[in-house]
Amino acid sequence: MNPAAAPPPPIETEALIIGAGPAALFLAFQLGLQEIACQLVDVLPAPGGQCHALYPDKPIYDLPGLPVCSGRELTERLLQQLRPFNPPLHLGQLVSGLQRLPDGRWQLRSSVSGDGGNSEQEWIAPLVFIAAGVGAFLPRKESVAGLEPFERGPSAQVCYHGLPAAAAAAQHIVVHGGDAAAVELALELAPPPSAGASGRVTLLHRSPRFQIEPALQGALEQALAQGRLQLVLGQPVGLDCGPAANLAQAPEPAPQDARPALQALHLATPGDGHATLPCDLLLPRLGLSPKLGPLADWGLALERKHLPVDSATMATTEPGLFAVGDINHYPGKRKLIVCAFHEATLAAFAAAALLRPGQRQLLQYTTTSPRLQQLLGVAGASAAAG
Ligand SMILES: Cc1cc2nc3c(=O)[nH]c(=O)nc-3n(C[C@H](O)[C@H](O)[C@H](O)COP(=O)(O)OP(=O)(O)OC[C@H]3O[C@@H](n4cnc5c(N)ncnc54)[C@H](O)[C@@H]3O)c2cc1C
Repeated sequence: MNPAAAPPPPIETEALIIGAGPAALFLAFQLGLQEIACQLVDVLPAPGGQCHALYPDKPIYDLPGLPVCSGRELTERLLQQLRPFNPPLHLGQLVSGLQRLPDGRWQLRSSVSGDGGNSEQEWIAPLVFIAAGVGAFLPRKESVAGLEPFERGPSAQVCYHGLPAAAAAAQHIVVHGGDAAAVELALELAPPPSAGASGRVTLLHRSPRFQIEPALQGALEQALAQGRLQLVLGQPVGLDCGPAANLAQAPEPAPQDARPALQALHLATPGDGHATLPCDLLLPRLGLSPKLGPLADWGLALERKHLPVDSATMATTEPGLFAVGDINHYPGKRKLIVCAFHEATLAAFAAAALLRPGQRQLLQYTTTSPRLQQLLGVAGASAAAG
């Protein structure tokens, strides 16, 4: 990103949904049926919220009409159902600010983290739906002091999402973590079997046990046996820094990156030992942790970190501001996906009434309503089906 570039113009939409979990995805579908244009923003790199980020391959048994369905499959089905409305989905963006404009609409700010630094986007909408679940899922950070400066800039050496531009030139890549995301990334970066043994990629974990499926465990053991990957047991406790010599081949280092380079990690190893691990690119994959974060600073009335709503409409006490899914609270609330779907439906009806006061609201069925079928792009299909 060019630091001098002008910020992008605000994006205006009828409804902005904060989150892209199951509540948000079904809400976007229901808003589509109400002919309300919406956009979704989520800090995660993929939609699906908890279902996709925390338990993509685990079975869900209590969805109506779906006896068993994994978190990943549910997300895919929700996205498929949403396709006729095709609302813009903005991923990797943390909504950090929310305030009321003098004309009554909402102004929001989101920040995007990328290889080239941070950029901001502004949003303006009369309707805002908070579908933030248990909070924004952010990567768990390394607890070593002094790492933060290495997370920024075109030649960043510490990267919690994706790969930085400097990855191609790195000589000692360390992937830190013990779950499938860490092991899959280490295997992806390891040279192919034909290239033989290589000391370039290290998988660093505190113990020899990994939280992975047997097939992935097999692939890991094979890569270790072939020497394409090395496993080091330990926990980072300090850094070695020096001149940026080993990143000299990085593409066009920016002047602000004329700073010491990360060269090695100091490790506490099992049995009170110590070790030094060469490292010019650290890729922590330590899991995700939900942070209520920005939402707590928006001056909204929260009850034990939840937004109280009217259970008939999912409206908060702020006109034009709704909350659905795990983030809301009302008497009898249950944090279940099926309840989030019900809430999304009621919220969409309430939003339509607010946006178009005086217009009669008809309850129409997707099975029989030509209008709804037109919106869904299936007009004529039911007649053809007999
Ligand atoms: C292991 C496990 C198993 C489960 N099994 C079941 C089950 O069998 N049946 C069932 O009904 N439920 C189950 N649940 C619960 C279910 O997953 C949740 O009820 C559901 O995900 C809630 O959906 P949601 O859309 O409200 O929130 P979430 O799924 O949490 O999605 C919220 C999204 O909002 C994003 N977000 C939050 N704040 C911001 C911000 N400021 N800016 C940008 N993005 C933001 C988050 O990154 C997240 O992606 C299970 C949960 C877990 C952890």
